[in-house]
Amino acid sequence: MGIESIKEKIRVVEDFPQKGIQFRDLTTAFKDPKCLKDLSDKMTDMCKNKGITKVVGIESRGFILGPVMANNLGAGFVTLRKPGKLPAETYQESYQKEYGVDTIEIHKDALSEDDVVLIHDDLLATGGTMRAAYELVKRFGVKKIYINFIVELEDLNGRSLFPEDIEIESLIKY
Ligand code: AMP
Repeated sequence: MGIESIKEKIRVVEDFPQKGIQFRDLTTAFKDPKCLKDLSDKMTDMCKNKGITKVVGIESRGFILGPVMANNLGAGFVTLRKPGKLPAETYQESYQKEYGVDTIEIHKDALSEDDVVLIHDDLLATGGTMRAAYELVKRFGVKKIYINFIVELEDLNGRSLFPEDIEIESLIKY
């Protein structure tokens, strides 16, 4: 399935979760077996041969293809969660959303200096969520950090929040 056919499977919902937002709903792509397979394969191809040892997925839409890529790469999977969900000691990072502030957490023993990390989320919009994730992962002094998304909304220029030497890839661009 080509990128254009996959794009056709992604539903656009107007004014969700609030007026003016055009929500790119990937559930309609994930429920199609062929599309799910092709998305899984293409996302894995994007990050193979980089020596990735851990995939870090952002709650909750990063938990869908994150573990698939980790499994295909022979890497481990680490969850980055909303506050109060992780049972052991955590590091936290807060970030500005359109309305108010959000926080994400990671277990203090989730990563080590030997890791090569891929941070994954379904979609890059303004970049605030991934920037917080990047700051959290950086604390561990890992060898290298890669970032990938299924979808990137280019007009919002979320990429500008990251240093130029960080490899950021997305499969589908709007
Ligand atoms: P941001 O921090 O602005 O880059 O927002 C990224 C997060 O919000 C991702 O986890 C997305 O799942 C979600 N998100 C933001 N905008 C959209 C959108 N237009 N369509 C679908 N998901 C979105």
